[in-house]
Amino acid sequence: MLDEEHRLILKSVREFTELHVRPRAREIDRGVYPREILRKLGELGLLAPTIPPEFNGGGSDTLTQVLVVEELARASPGVATIMEIQSSMIAENIYAMGNPRQREELLPKFASGELICAFALSEPCCGSDAGAIETRAVRVGGEWRISGVKMWITSGLYADYYLVFARTGPKEARHKAITAFLVKRGSCVEATPIEVMGVRGTGTAEVKFNECPANDDDIVGKINEGWAVVVHALNVGRAAISGVAVGIARGAFEEALSWARGRRLFGKTLIEFQNTQFELAEMYAAIETARTLTYYAAYLYDVKSPDFVAMAHVAKLQTARIAVDVARRAVQLEGGYGYSKESKAEMFYRDAKILEIGEGTNEVMKYVLFKLLEKR
Ligand SMILES: Cc1cc2nc3c(=O)[nH]c(=O)nc-3n(C[C@H](O)[C@H](O)[C@H](O)COP(=O)(O)OP(=O)(O)OC[C@H]3O[C@@H](n4cnc5c(N)ncnc54)[C@H](O)[C@@H]3O)c2cc1C
Repeated sequence: MLDEEHRLILKSVREFTELHVRPRAREIDRGVYPREILRKLGELGLLAPTIPPEFNGGGSDTLTQVLVVEELARASPGVATIMEIQSSMIAENIYAMGNPRQREELLPKFASGELICAFALSEPCCGSDAGAIETRAVRVGGEWRISGVKMWITSGLYADYYLVFARTGPKEARHKAITAFLVKRGSCVEATPIEVMGVRGTGTAEVKFNECPANDDDIVGKINEGWAVVVHALNVGRAAISGVAVGIARGAFEEALSWARGRRLFGKTLIEFQNTQFELAEMYAAIETARTLTYYAAYLYDVKSPDFVAMAHVAKLQTARIAVDVARRAVQLEGGYGYSKESKAEMFYRDAKILEIGEGTNEVMKYVLFKLLEKR
């Protein structure tokens, strides 16, 4: 499915990853937010690959976006996760739904990595049931005041801006009374770090908004139509995060393969046992399945196919499960070493689990898929 341009970008992101990301993967896993890596990705047009060059993006397609995410995740799932959100859930959304000021002033800075913007939807009350969020935006004089608590926000600790979803009508109206606002970080914002199991170093935080001011000009899309922004972001995001899953599975597989070639036991190398060969074959087959689903979902988005949404959800559900399974098998093949902090399989195993929870859980993927089936 890859043309000459895809191959060139793949080569450059691979070189970038080896030079700037892989050497720092463990440090990031220990909790260091990779701000300067994001800037460097931005300089190369790799932070927002699908955004046109006049807005500092790479001017490519969604398949390219997936390739970039996959390569980054092979070395550091944390960097890939931050990049995927900044690109597909923030930059893509502002490009598609932002007003001229947001597109001209903010989009180029989000695409270059000069400014980081977090996607702030989930709350302590509600993640899967996002239509029930409680953060409110109320009119005071000529402006809006936003108050509420957002939970589990990636880059929440370090973001310069937040794409905040707030209630602008009655709770009973659920998703029909939610508006999206771009809120600049200021003294009204209080971010508290949350210790997480995997994708560490992504600045996961609880973020409190205490009467944060916003103008009509800060609304993305229309008043009470923020749900369209959520849906657009999540549809594209679910295809893109499948690339993180493929990258994690590949990273874990590659490490386990190299371990199996070197480890000696019972007078042979580990790879000489048929069980090991079967395990590696299972992992390879699963990775190719995940990769095919992901590239196909990206392709469907690029050709504006009506089948895109279903395939993005199929890809997200299956690739998340594959990444967890492949990383688990990698740890098992490596034995005690696989369970130690020396091994990268250990990091990939912890990082893979978020794929079954973030940007919609496996159960939410099945909920959406069944709804789509019913419509058909
Ligand atoms: C590391 C990390 C980073 C994140 N980053 C962000 C971010 O940047 N921005 C953001 O807005 N959010 C973010 N999230 C939040 C994430 O999207 C939510 O955690 C996720 O959507 C699940 O919501 P919840 O945690 O409230 O679980 P709940 O919604 O309470 O779900 C609990 C359980 O119920 C299941 N369930 C839900 N609905 C149904 C149903 N209809 N039928 C059967 N079972 C169901 C779920 O699958 C799950 O197993 C992040 C989370 C983590 C852990």
